[in-house]
Amino acid sequence: MAGVDFVDVRKSFGAFPVIKGVNIEIEDGEFVILVGPSGCGKSTLLRMLAGLENITAGEIRIGNRVVNRLPPKDRDIAMVFQNYALYPHMTVRDNMAFSLMLKGSARGDIDKSVGAAADILGLSRLLDRYPRQLSGGQRQRVAMGRAIVRDPQVFLFDEPLSNLDAKLRVAMRAEIKELHQRLKTTTVYVTHDQIEAMTMADKIVVMHDGIVEQIGAPLDLYDQPANLFVAGFIGSPAMNMLNGRLDANNPNAFLSVDGTALPVARPAAAARGRNLIYGLRPEYLSLDPNGLPAEVVVIEPTGYETQMIVKLGGAEVTGVFRERVNARPGETIRLAIDSQHVHLFDAETGRRLI
Ligand code: ATP
Repeated sequence: MAGVDFVDVRKSFGAFPVIKGVNIEIEDGEFVILVGPSGCGKSTLLRMLAGLENITAGEIRIGNRVVNRLPPKDRDIAMVFQNYALYPHMTVRDNMAFSLMLKGSARGDIDKSVGAAADILGLSRLLDRYPRQLSGGQRQRVAMGRAIVRDPQVFLFDEPLSNLDAKLRVAMRAEIKELHQRLKTTTVYVTHDQIEAMTMADKIVVMHDGIVEQIGAPLDLYDQPANLFVAGFIGSPAMNMLNGRLDANNPNAFLSVDGTALPVARPAAAARGRNLIYGLRPEYLSLDPNGLPAEVVVIEPTGYETQMIVKLGGAEVTGVFRERVNARPGETIRLAIDSQHVHLFDAETGRRLI
């Protein structure tokens, strides 16, 4: 096994820069997820690591080897693609065995490796089937089996779950995570789905427009987003963001655009006199008879929690309540804000101030 390093990596297609100086350190055995909106460059970064795309500048290392100029087959990696890329005319067994057959491994060794991987992935009874006779989830498992059999230093996954339905995606998420816990192979995984990133990764790399916005453990990104982009991207439903400024007469109050005073626990000196964004996650609102008045716009009970959109501080704000709420649209309810969990962002730079 080995770690992976991206050192000031850049990539342009013609004159168009798509990766603008990326630095990422991935430790041996870590499960790292590159996440970001469509077009941010995450697949390009993964393809450069795989050797499927040239690097314009910088250095990529696997273990202690600089691999910039190594062809894919010499990088000791195995990649699982979104479309599975199985050979349709080969059985599951042969699909999984193919790389070892190319290497000229002994038949007995091949059978042992394929058997072990099939066992781990629950494919033992499907080894004689062809890909067309499998469900989407089973095909995805065969693609993973093929990667496992190669016993690489690094696994690469490119949006492996996007062709599966929602329920199967959740199940496969757990399987991939379990697989990693078992094999402990360094893994680099690309997705645009922040829930996938939050639930599976040891470390998340949030990308946007060819740069890294923030790197960190899932809950650290959730609790301490570096800027508005990360704050808005991580978390579902998304963080509420209200425009306003600190109250000149009361440093513990933020005045939203309609003048509603919202609580702030630890105002930073740097926040005074600036245009700010007040960042409030939906779960830090609660019902409180002494709280701020808010008009209910939409109420959505799911059974174990209630989601509401309310008008507060001149904006529509989403709240998630771990209880059943008896209210109708148009009614005014009263809400408290857990000020310990409020963030303030500089509206111009987007950086988090507290
Ligand atoms: P998605 O989630 O949609 O796959 P992504 O974050 O993986 O997006 P990339 O596929 O890495 O994004 O693409 C990054 C940028 O590079 C995009 O603007 C894309 O149009 C551009 N791009 C990718 N491949 C090429 C290519 N071969 N030639 C020119 N531009 C390309």
